[in-house]
Amino acid sequence: MKIVDHIKNANGKTLFSFELLPPIKGQSIKGIFDAIDPLMEFNPPFIDVTYLREDYIYKQHANGLLEKVAYRKRPSTVATCAAIMNKYKVDAVPHLICGGFNKDETENALIDLQFLGIDNVLALRGDARKSDSSFVPTPDGHAYASELVSQVSDMNNGRYLHDDIGELERTDFCIGVAGYPEKHFESPNLDTDFKYLKLKVDLGAEFIVTQMFFDNQKYKAFVEKCRENGINVPIIPGLKPITSSKQLVSLPKVFHLDIPVELSEAVQACKSEKDVKAIGIEWMINQCKELRDMGAPVLHFYTMGNPEPTKKIAQAIF
Ligand code: FAD
Repeated sequence: MKIVDHIKNANGKTLFSFELLPPIKGQSIKGIFDAIDPLMEFNPPFIDVTYLREDYIYKQHANGLLEKVAYRKRPSTVATCAAIMNKYKVDAVPHLICGGFNKDETENALIDLQFLGIDNVLALRGDARKSDSSFVPTPDGHAYASELVSQVSDMNNGRYLHDDIGELERTDFCIGVAGYPEKHFESPNLDTDFKYLKLKVDLGAEFIVTQMFFDNQKYKAFVEKCRENGINVPIIPGLKPITSSKQLVSLPKVFHLDIPVELSEAVQACKSEKDVKAIGIEWMINQCKELRDMGAPVLHFYTMGNPEPTKKIAQAIF
C-alpha cells in the first residue's frame, strides 16, 4: 500500500516505522530479520531500506600495479526489500539514489521494483562517495533528486525513456523525498533549500521524510515553512536517539545538525556510556510524545541495525 494511504487510513493516529541498512556484502539476511523482529510488535506499516553507492578500493596485482575498482559494501537493497515483504507482509520502501545509476539503469531498477510489488520509493540524490570530496553524478545519470522524482513521475504517467521496448504498464509509485529542518549542508540558505524541496513536490513527491533533529521546534518551523510555501504533503520526522557520547561530535559532523545545549550538557555530565544511552533515550521519548501531540503522521526511526534503543522508545509511545 502507498505510504500516503497508510497515513490516511490511520485517521490522525501517529504511526511507527523505521529504516535499516541492507546487509554487508556476503552476510545472510538473518541479521536483518534479527533487527526487525523486536520491532514488529509496534505494527510498522512500512520499513525503509537504505541504498549505499559503490565506492572505490585499490586492488594490488601480482606485478605490483594498483587498480582502482568499484566496490559495493552493501549491495542488496532490492533483495532486502523483497525478503522483508515476503516474511513480514509489510511494505518495504527502497531508497533509490541518483549516484551510481544512469537513467536507463534507473528505469530498469524501477521496472524490477514494480514487478516485485513495491509501491513506494524514497528518491534521493545520495551521499558523496568517501573517495570523492563532493557528489559526482554518474554519466547520463541525475545530478539532483528532483530529476529522479521527475523520471519516476514520468513512468507513473506511462512515459519511459524508450518507446520501442514493447507494452509497458504505467508504474504507480508513491514517491517520497528527503527534507532538512536544519537545511541541507550544501545549500547556501534555507530559502534556496525550500525552493528545491518544493520543486521535488511539484514534480510528484507525495511525502517528505526529514533528516534527524533533536529540537522539535526545528521540525515545527520546518512544517510551517513548508505549508507557507505551498508544500502540503505529509512530513514524517526522522529520528535517532543519542546512544554514545561520541555522537555529540559524529552526528553534527555527518548529518549537519545542532544538538541542544541541554542535551549535550546532560550527556557530558554522564559518568558512563550506559547513562548516556539512558539520557538519549529519555530525550527521544519526550521528543516523540511532543511530536505525536503536534500531529506528526509517523515517527520514523533510523535504527542503523540496532533495534534495542528504538524498542525502548516505542514501548513508551505506542
Ligand atoms: P537533493 O534534493 O538533490 O538536494 C541536494 C542539494 O542540492 C541541496 O542542497 C539542494 O538544496 C540542492 N539542489 C537541489 N536541486 C537543485 C537544483 N536543481 N539546482 C541547484 N541545487 C539544487 N543517502 C544515501 O546515499 N543513501 C540513502 O539511502 C539515504 N537515505 C536518506 C534518507 C533520508 C530520510 C535522508 C534525509 C537522507 C538520506 N540520504 C541517503 C542522504 C542524502 O542522500 C544526502 O543528504 C544528499 O546529500 C542529498 O540528498 P537529497 O535527496 O536531499 O538531494
